[in-house]
Amino acid sequence: MKLGEALKEKGLLTEDRLQLALAHQKVTGDLIGETFVKLGFVSSSEIAKTLAEQAGIPFLDLSEHTVSEEAIRLIPKDIAEKAGFIPLRLIDDDTIEIGVTNPSNITAMDMASKLSRRKTRVLMIDGNAFNKTLESAYYFLENPIQQFIHKAIEELRTSETLPATTAADLSQNLIMEGVRRKATDVHISPTADTVNIFYRVDGVLQHGFCINKSVHNVIVSRIKVLSKLDISEKRLPQDGAFSLTFLETKYDMRVSTTPTIYGENIVIRVLAGTAQLLSIDSLGFDHESIHRLETIFQKPCGIVLISGPTGSGKTTTLYASLREINLIERNVLTVEDPVEYKLSFVKQTSINLKAGYDFALAGRNFMRQDPDVILLGEIRDEETAKIAIRASISGHLVLSTIHSNDAVTSIPRLLDFNIDRFMLSSSLLAVISQRLIRKLCKFCKEEYSVTEDDLRKLGLSGNGSTPRDEPVLTTACRPKGCSMCNETGYTGRTVVGEIMLVNDQIKELISEGASLFKVREEAFRNGMVSLKMSGLDNIRRHVTCVDEVVRVI
Ligand SMILES: [Zn+2]
Repeated sequence: MKLGEALKEKGLLTEDRLQLALAHQKVTGDLIGETFVKLGFVSSSEIAKTLAEQAGIPFLDLSEHTVSEEAIRLIPKDIAEKAGFIPLRLIDDDTIEIGVTNPSNITAMDMASKLSRRKTRVLMIDGNAFNKTLESAYYFLENPIQQFIHKAIEELRTSETLPATTAADLSQNLIMEGVRRKATDVHISPTADTVNIFYRVDGVLQHGFCINKSVHNVIVSRIKVLSKLDISEKRLPQDGAFSLTFLETKYDMRVSTTPTIYGENIVIRVLAGTAQLLSIDSLGFDHESIHRLETIFQKPCGIVLISGPTGSGKTTTLYASLREINLIERNVLTVEDPVEYKLSFVKQTSINLKAGYDFALAGRNFMRQDPDVILLGEIRDEETAKIAIRASISGHLVLSTIHSNDAVTSIPRLLDFNIDRFMLSSSLLAVISQRLIRKLCKFCKEEYSVTEDDLRKLGLSGNGSTPRDEPVLTTACRPKGCSMCNETGYTGRTVVGEIMLVNDQIKELISEGASLFKVREEAFRNGMVSLKMSGLDNIRRHVTCVDEVVRVI
């Protein structure tokens, strides 16, 4: 079956998008798969998954897994590159697993077998991630950053200070280690006599290194210089930024310092611009709600909100929502902070606070750009809230995000911005509330029988008598750790979420100022699956473990 047809059959592509891509391809001469990706119709990982299914081989998501060093060691880089494969890991004493982008790549299999003297097992990987993963895997093999750091720590044991260049390298390596771990934040935290480096990966802090306090000032000064901050100012917090290009990817680093009793604490947020373009039904929401949500995105006007704390994956859901909208027939304008995924056929803008371009100004300006759909990155003040509501009742579909704990509490949050109850009730279409939970590594997770303790932690009564409507939990999985997951037991994250669809009853409850309890009751009656239930479902399907759900929800 042709790729376009296969994607259509899976519901990832519509006929008019296929035709448009074909027209585009005639002009550019690109491959059809590349064209789909470039136009933002389908992601490269969806294409790889589809090809893998057709060829009957498993798919591996490289954005979630680590390539094992012992496998990389067996195959020289130029050979892997030329033959078009990545060594992934060694299994069972006699097999090497390799990742390919072309399922019938015989050369790759032969090469891998010959050089490793092992049988070859083939997995399909995403074409877009291929080069990046290959380059970085060999780079870190040749530049063992962790060893460099440990060497510097060792040196500090004998001499109180480091030579200037070693200290500069150390600062650089501590940040690079964050890139290697795919961390979203790097923390440099002083204590009374040491400096500790932490990395936030998949939402959780990992302890990286413990270093002699004597280099703290050097590291802090180095980072301050990079981000154009005042080195001599140590008593007040400062904010700055710098960027770093590694293997053709630009990383924007936002630096924040804060004075603590033990010296300056630094947090570096790492923005890699790697938001994924996923389809809304692959995000992890329950299917019934998604199905109803899809029809909402076809509505001409109203407002759809995505709520959740910082780092709960709201942006990914926003992009997935945009894919549901007919971008060819409707004029879509966005204002984001920052643009994380470029989409053809969407007019994307990025806020620029220094120039005075914020969500509110963008919202006002968009009204003169003949819009059908407006995406406002975030509602965080009264003015933006009012613009969003006004646009949605004057014939536009508005998508935005808001900070609130769950779907229902978005209502008082908006009312706090002095939004009229009646206007809100007549414009609100749906609120999606979400969290991200870590997925267990599928290579090493361990199944076990659920214990009394687990049920208690989850707030489910034990001895088999679970409350009505709560799914019975019999088996679950727990993390272990292997080379594919950096020994953490987890790989990547998935959404747990609840979707409140606003029906006539809920509209009425909002406009008459009913209690949140009543609104929530009605939402459940209308089919909302709560965050907690969504989490339990993920435990039952062995996607995540008990502790992770307890931690997040
Ligand atoms: Zn693992």
